[in-house]
Amino acid sequence: MKNLIENLHTKTTPLVKLESPFLTNHQINLYVKRIDLIHPHISGNKWYKLYYNILEAKELNKDTLLTFGGAYSNHIYATAAAGKEFNFKTIGIIRGEEHLPLNPTLRFAKDCGMEIHYVDRSKYRNKTNTNFIKELKNKYGNLYLLPEGGTNSLALKGCSEIIGTIDIKFDYICTPCGTGGTLSGLICGLNLTQKAIGFSVLKGGGFLVDDVKKHIKNYNGNEYKNWNIYLDYHFGGYAKITKELISFIQEFEKEFQISIEPIYSGKMFYGLLDLIKKGEFKRETKIIVLHTGGLQGLKGINEKMKKLSDIDFLL
Ligand SMILES: *Cc1c(COP(=O)(O)O)cnc(C)c1O
Repeated sequence: MKNLIENLHTKTTPLVKLESPFLTNHQINLYVKRIDLIHPHISGNKWYKLYYNILEAKELNKDTLLTFGGAYSNHIYATAAAGKEFNFKTIGIIRGEEHLPLNPTLRFAKDCGMEIHYVDRSKYRNKTNTNFIKELKNKYGNLYLLPEGGTNSLALKGCSEIIGTIDIKFDYICTPCGTGGTLSGLICGLNLTQKAIGFSVLKGGGFLVDDVKKHIKNYNGNEYKNWNIYLDYHFGGYAKITKELISFIQEFEKEFQISIEPIYSGKMFYGLLDLIKKGEFKRETKIIVLHTGGLQGLKGINEKMKKLSDIDFLL
């Protein structure tokens, strides 16, 4: 088991340089770090967030991982897959009501053996200290609790190590932000001449700035200044998708032959290319973009869009 975990931990992923007339004109060197390719199901940043938590759970002899998420959550999906692969029972606490048939994300989680519980939105808000969790702890005893989105200090430690897997010198590294855990870890792994840029996928994501500081403080007690978060590329809010965003993704995939998705990576790439267009970066700047994965969500997004008559084209 240790070997399986370590094999994944030491696996290398490609760094791909993007070439296009637009990038050449702006004299920007753009590279995509394909951590989305690290595992078919425990993809991208979710693996780096889980890695030290999984080691810790093993160390503590926990046999069950319990975590939280929405019905389309990449973190739920990755945790279910990790449980199956590394021999943990898994419990997913899902926000909202059950909808049958299950969407592809929850179908997969269930097929991995995840036990799924639904809680209404108000209960979900105080998810870590409800009687419900106490009951589950009494019932299962041996739980390892992963927070929503998987963000904790061990997740930061894992994400900080992404920097060491990039074998060229660079000036910036970019990531989408949901909880800001991945960005926080990246910041801790950089040297001070490098900068991290986050793109909020949430509307009103200003709180992320304080959250990132808090995550880092809890992790290593430090304060950093070499980072910022762009707040205006959310396209209306979390999981909101517009025709403009879909056309952008379709063009991006045609030009660069890399699949992205509209919840996280699509919004980040849109934002980054917009910043380049506006001349935010000096000539010859080297920028790394983290492909955080999340492509599992596309099936569910397509199913949902088929039901919406006003969106007449699919990804
Ligand atoms: C979860 C997720 C993110 C956001 O990561 P945070 O650490 O919560 O900010 C970004 N991209 C993808 C594809 C994700 O699944």
